[in-house]
Amino acid sequence: MLTERIKQIKPSPTLAIDSKAKAMLASGIDIVNFGIGEPDFDTPDHIKEAAIQAIRDGFTRYTPVGGIQELKEAIVEKFQRDNNLTYKPEEIIVSCGGKHALYNLFQVLFQRGDEVIVPTPYWVSYPPMIQLADATPVIVPTPEDTGFKLTPEILRAHITPRTKGLILNSPSNPTGSVYTRQELEALAEVILAHKLLVVSDDIYEKILFDGLTFSNLAQLSPELQKLTFILNGVSKTYAMTGWRIGYLAGEATVVKAMTNLQSQSTSNPTSIAQKAAVAAIRGPQEMVDVMVKEFAWRRDDILARLADIPGVKCVKPGGAFYVFPNFSEYYRYFQPDKDGNLSDPLATYLLEEAHVALVAGSGFGEDKCIRFSYATSRERIATGLARIKAALQKLAG
Ligand SMILES: *Cc1c(COP(=O)(O)O)cnc(C)c1O
Repeated sequence: MLTERIKQIKPSPTLAIDSKAKAMLASGIDIVNFGIGEPDFDTPDHIKEAAIQAIRDGFTRYTPVGGIQELKEAIVEKFQRDNNLTYKPEEIIVSCGGKHALYNLFQVLFQRGDEVIVPTPYWVSYPPMIQLADATPVIVPTPEDTGFKLTPEILRAHITPRTKGLILNSPSNPTGSVYTRQELEALAEVILAHKLLVVSDDIYEKILFDGLTFSNLAQLSPELQKLTFILNGVSKTYAMTGWRIGYLAGEATVVKAMTNLQSQSTSNPTSIAQKAAVAAIRGPQEMVDVMVKEFAWRRDDILARLADIPGVKCVKPGGAFYVFPNFSEYYRYFQPDKDGNLSDPLATYLLEEAHVALVAGSGFGEDKCIRFSYATSRERIATGLARIKAALQKLAG
């Protein structure tokens, strides 16, 4: 009954581990959950108030498909204020979450025969979304010693006459790695030479540590801005994952095509959530700093605890709220699963033996590693890491 198109799509592995952990939790087992990819903070009150006000005001009807003008203008201001990038409202679309904006973008930009370069470790949804557009994801491994970042040499080596696009995600989910402006400039030469379209997933823009500054490709030149499509949203920055508001900035013809697609599928994102997003983007930003400071403390803590486990190596993340340590020293105690992966058997062992939920690296295209989201309390981090250490010690005998 099902189409070939949907048969090749597996459920998101991050959501799969989460449901298994929740089932164990429901049966009374105390699970430390490092699986989940969302801030553990509550949406700030002034944002909630804006939504409540919208309901009271009867702002409960269809809105323009690609978002209300007020929100588009707030997003235009945000790009100017934070990124020194100038956009017009017609170069902005608001969708039902960043994921939805990306899905629409891929449908509009890519088709059969197109190749899209996806550096590993990648966010789990990129390859299936490219496949759903009938295009081919070209999975490009990046070395651990560059912090899992793409280099111009590696990029060049994977370009063919069919290459149409490239996805970059900085700070990265799952590694937390951040591209510097210099690194982007080096990539830009290759991108310009081949006129590649760049999808810049900036969703973790604000979650940066150690005084790092954020850069994306669009900022480097007007020519690059034309080739770049910026994905951003309120989910991660303002602890608003459930509100489903994401947005994209890029060339007006592409935004218009995405709006057409949206008009024939979901229509507008929720009216009330759009008002909340305006309050988030235009309102006080202090809460973001509080959240980032706490994430920075936890990153240092979890890195110290990982360093205390023999054989585990970890790239130091500059942003987001994930660490992606290399556990391959322990793979000798396991048999590969049916897909030939070893991160899955280890993650399953740690869930069953240590009662810690993690996401295996295989889902991110890097089987040597396992992803931890540290969007959980300091106390749970300490408990979880102690359990992992003990479970691994047990393996080593
Ligand atoms: C969370 C996330 C998104 C989008 O999240 P939405 O909740 O759909 O806005 C996009 N890219 C990455 C890398 C993410 O981690």
